[in-house]
Amino acid sequence: MTKQQDLLLISIQTPEDILPKYRNTPIGKLLEYHNLNRQFESYQNAQLLIGMCMDNRKHLHMPDNYAFIIRSGGANLRYSEFKVSYAIAVGGVRHIALIGHNNCGMVNLMARRDQFIKGLAEATGWGEEQAGDHFLHFAPMFEIENEIDFILSETKRLRDRYPKIEIAPMFYLVEDNKLYLIKET
Ligand SMILES: [Zn+2]
Repeated sequence: MTKQQDLLLISIQTPEDILPKYRNTPIGKLLEYHNLNRQFESYQNAQLLIGMCMDNRKHLHMPDNYAFIIRSGGANLRYSEFKVSYAIAVGGVRHIALIGHNNCGMVNLMARRDQFIKGLAEATGWGEEQAGDHFLHFAPMFEIENEIDFILSETKRLRDRYPKIEIAPMFYLVEDNKLYLIKET
């Protein structure tokens, strides 16, 4: 963990490390299953909605049927709102874990513009102009400046949008594959 991460993240190594408001909720149990090897209970229905990045380096340790998962670049749910509403309205969940991670590809997307356009054109047969337009259309929607700040702002946005739903900002460190709570001040 970097010094900055150490300041901003809450490491979960015992059940007492989980913030009291999340203990014994679907959010706290996700932390226990994933980090603390809590014995799996059996579930018939989803308890939780998880929003996380599409990045391939992450795998969550939790029981079958435990959660809906929406994966999107940077754990950005701005363009997945109908699915969030569905998980609440029809799926019955009342808790959301929003999980960012370090070394996210959505940070500084503009720096990978040429690689993106060239790669897309070569792989798909698109012209470079079409690939370039595609990048310029979508990159601003998905680019994030900093993984932790983005998750905190997205948490705030979702809390405003869904006031009665409990939403926890979390972070996945790809080095140790553990989940952390993000400190909120
Ligand atoms: Zn990512």
